Amino acid sequence: MLSLFRGRPGLATWGGLVVLIVTVILASANRLAPAQVQDLDLVLAGGRVMDPESGLDSVRSIGIRRGKVVAVSSEPLTARTVVDVRGLVVSPGFIDLHSHGQTDENYRFKAMDGVTTALEMEVGTAEVATWYAQRDGKSLVNFGATVGHIPSRMAVVGDKGDFLPRDEAIRRRLTDAEQQRLLAIMRRGLDEGALGIGFGIAYVPAATRKEILDVFELAAERGLACFVHLRSHGAVEPGSAIEAAQEAIADAVATGASLHIVHVTSTGLSQTATLLRMIDGARKHGLDVTTEAYPYTAAMTGLETAIFDDGWQEKMGIGYKELQWVATGERLTAESFARYRKLGGMVVIHSIPEEIARLAVANPMVMIASDGIITSGKGHPRGAGTYARVLGRYVRQQQVLTLMDGLRKMTLMPAERLARTTPSMSTKGRIKAGVDADLAIFDPARVIDRATFENPAQYSEGFVHVLVNGVFVVRDGKLVESVKPGSPIRRR
Ligand SMILES: [Zn+2]
Repeated sequence: MLSLFRGRPGLATWGGLVVLIVTVILASANRLAPAQVQDLDLVLAGGRVMDPESGLDSVRSIGIRRGKVVAVSSEPLTARTVVDVRGLVVSPGFIDLHSHGQTDENYRFKAMDGVTTALEMEVGTAEVATWYAQRDGKSLVNFGATVGHIPSRMAVVGDKGDFLPRDEAIRRRLTDAEQQRLLAIMRRGLDEGALGIGFGIAYVPAATRKEILDVFELAAERGLACFVHLRSHGAVEPGSAIEAAQEAIADAVATGASLHIVHVTSTGLSQTATLLRMIDGARKHGLDVTTEAYPYTAAMTGLETAIFDDGWQEKMGIGYKELQWVATGERLTAESFARYRKLGGMVVIHSIPEEIARLAVANPMVMIASDGIITSGKGHPRGAGTYARVLGRYVRQQQVLTLMDGLRKMTLMPAERLARTTPSMSTKGRIKAGVDADLAIFDPARVIDRATFENPAQYSEGFVHVLVNGVFVVRDGKLVESVKPGSPIRRR
C-alpha cells in the first residue's frame, strides 16, 4: 500500500512530461514542415471549423492528402489547391442513418444537403453482396446497408411488393422451416458485411413477437444493433407506440442486442415525449438504445401497406384529407383512397404536429436522419432538405438548438452509433488529423431547405462545398456530376 502511494507522485510527474512531449509534437504537427506542406493535395483555408467531438469552434485551415484530413492548423497552409473558405462553417460531412433513396438521383440531393454518407438501415436489403456491388465505384457519396428483416421475409414468402410488402409478407405467419430460411438469409447478409439488422415490424404485422425476438437474438450473437421501425404508432390502446416500444426494448434487454428506434416522431405522434422518456430511461439503466427524427410535420409510405389497414384514422388521429398522393400532389377522399390503395404508391401523411417535430429535433438524444427517397423528382421533401432544414429553420430561425448541437446530431452521434460495430466509422463524423476528408462547408446565415411537399426535388441552399473522401462533390454551390468518390461502409 505504502509503495503504491509513494509511486503516485512519480507517475504523475512522468505523466505530465508525456503530456508535455505530446503537446509539443502536436503543436509542431500543426506547423507542418515545408516538405509536408508541398505534399498536401488541398487546403481549405480560414474557415470556421466546428468539431462536435473536441468542441473546436475556431478559425482553422484544413490540409487534405489522399482523401484524409492530415492537418488542422491555426497557421496558414499551402498546397497545390487552396480554397478560401473564410466566413463559412466547416463541419464533418453529415451521416444519414435512414436513407432509402440509394440511387444517383438521391445521392445528388444528399450531396447538395451536406450528406457525405447515406445508409439504408431500416428496410435494408436481403442481397447484401449484390447491393454493395451495384454501388461500388459508382457513387457520389459513401453508402451502406443493413440486412433487412422486411426484404428477407418478403423473399421467404414470395411477397409481390417491390420495396415494401403488399401481400404475403403482411398476412402470413412463418412455419418453423420458413423461420429457419429467414434466419439463414440474414446470417448470410451479416457474413457479407451488413451494418446491422433492419426492421419495419409495422409493415409485417403477421410477424410474431417470437419471430422478432429470434432475429434480435441473431443481432446479439454478432454484437450488432437492430434499427427498428416499431410495430405500431400513436396512442390507441392496445397497439400504441408505447406498447410497440416496450416490445423492442424488452427484446434488447432479453437478448443484449443494441437498439436504434427510427423516426421517433412519426411512430410516437402524440406519444413522442413518452417514447423519449422510455429511451432516456433505458439509457440511464445501461442499455444501448438510440433514436432519430426528421424535421417535418408529415410522414410518407406506401398506401398499399399494412400501415393503412382498418383503424388507421384513429391510430394516427387523421382523416383522408391529411393524405397527399405523391404522384399528383392531390389530397385524398374515401373514393380516391380506395382506388389508389389498390394501385399502390407513395402517400404523404400529414400527421406530425409541429411541436412534436420541434421537441424531437431539440432533444439532445435524438439524431437527425432523413428517411428520404426521391423517385423521378417525386417524394417527400425530407429526401432533399432534411439537413438544411434543421440548420436553417431550427438552429438559425427558431434557435431551439445551437449550431454545434445541431451538427453533433448529424455527424458524431451517427458515427458513434455505428463505430461500436463498424470500426471504419470512427474516422467519420469528426474533424482532426487522420479522419476521412468528408466535409460539409456551408454559409450558416444562408443555409435553408428549398424542397416542399408540392415540389420535393429542389436542392438545399447554402452548401458551398461538400467533399467526399477528399473529392469535391459540390463546389462553389454547384454539384460536381463527373466524380464517384463514395466508398462502401461495410462491416468486416
Ligand atoms: Zn420507417
